[in-house]
Amino acid sequence: MSSSDPLLEELEASGPVQIVISDEEHHQFSLDEEALEQILLQERVRDLHVVVVSVAGAFRKGKSFLLDFMLRYMYSQGSDAWLGGTDEPLTGFTWRGGCERQTTGIQAWSHVFTVEKPDGSRVAVLLLDTQGAFDSQSTIKDCATLFALSTMTSSVQVRHASRLFTEYGRLAMEEIYLKPFQSLMFLIRDWSYPYEHAYGLDGGNKFLEKRLQVKQNQHEELQNVRKHIHSCFSSISCCLLPHPGLKVATNPHFDGRLRDIDEEFKRELVNLVPLLLAPENLMEKEISGSKVTCRDLLQYFRAYMKIYQGEELPHPKSMLQATAEANNLAAVAGAKDSYSRSMEQVCGGDRPYMSPADLERSHEELKQSCVRQFRGVKKMGGEEFCLRYQEQLEQEIDEAYASFLKHNDGKNIFFAARTPATLFAVMFV
Ligand code: GDP
Ligand code: MG
Repeated sequence: MSSSDPLLEELEASGPVQIVISDEEHHQFSLDEEALEQILLQERVRDLHVVVVSVAGAFRKGKSFLLDFMLRYMYSQGSDAWLGGTDEPLTGFTWRGGCERQTTGIQAWSHVFTVEKPDGSRVAVLLLDTQGAFDSQSTIKDCATLFALSTMTSSVQVRHASRLFTEYGRLAMEEIYLKPFQSLMFLIRDWSYPYEHAYGLDGGNKFLEKRLQVKQNQHEELQNVRKHIHSCFSSISCCLLPHPGLKVATNPHFDGRLRDIDEEFKRELVNLVPLLLAPENLMEKEISGSKVTCRDLLQYFRAYMKIYQGEELPHPKSMLQATAEANNLAAVAGAKDSYSRSMEQVCGGDRPYMSPADLERSHEELKQSCVRQFRGVKKMGGEEFCLRYQEQLEQEIDEAYASFLKHNDGKNIFFAARTPATLFAVMFV
């Protein structure tokens, strides 16, 4: 690739951005709202439905490695040669130079991709790297929190693991009555029993099925996880990956080039990545039955973050509560945006002055249609709960109207000139 390649330039300008930061001392996570806004509120993507693909796991499990191949796939836009050249070093989420800081939290790729699906709709694709620590009792709690946050905000989560379920047992979710989460794929790396279960998704799913069977002699908590996991996710799958080869695993100078990776691993990678990212397989993020835009996603992050900042693992009920709150806030933001955009067309900066009566009529009509829009969005929380947010919407619309009204007044030459004109009249009496 030459340096004038627009894709390469794009890649050079993009990078990983820490959006959820861990404060290890206080066992708290916080959201870098500004960073997330910059990513999600870009005009190019903010109103598109979003596909959120998250790769989650402990340190040094190969998350960045996988994500970098996912980036190659996304940047190559459907080319068959997406896997790259034999001697091309991997770039993207990976940090080279041996001084990688091992921070837990969530990183997002700053460039949100846009893809046209086979049905003609355009969607935005956000890639996330979720890294947790599992080295002590307290970090396990932190990690469960972080993973739950990542699960709730992603449409597809790939769990990078060496084994199944050792890290999962603590999330009891019996009380969630809808399937709140979408797709979960366990990725088992360094699988060394291909004669028992073949590499890839087929073997993985058979292996998973076996592991999910509930047996009498299991620990009760584990039994519960197994019983309920199906009721929490719309789809659960498992993929078995072969060992990538000794150079990948042990050579400190390995830079990701394909030459150094085992053929068998590359073959599985070529199968796996399109399963997650090919246009026909992209799955938009849905919350309580509605597709979520990039703009909505920001609200969900904020709302979920709030409940995870408490002392204890959040109770499933508060997760539902936060979902209901975020549903409503997102619907408010969407409806208010429709109002502002329509009013902009009626009386924006480049429109001529309007009579206040006409302006008020337009405002009333648009307000009603935006309240209808709000009411038409599927939301959780019940009528009374949603009514509070409807009131908030009406209030915000009225505030926006007041400012449109002021701008309109400013355009009235008559109005603006009234004072001097009266003065003139007085002087010439
Ligand atoms: P992360 O901390 O999860 O992001 O892990 P990295 O992607 O930075 O990878 C950590 C180390 O594991 C690197 O040296 C990789 O070359 C190596 N690695 C990546 N994928 C695999 C894998 O599937 N198996 C093994 N054994 N090592 C891997
Ligand atoms: Mg990493």
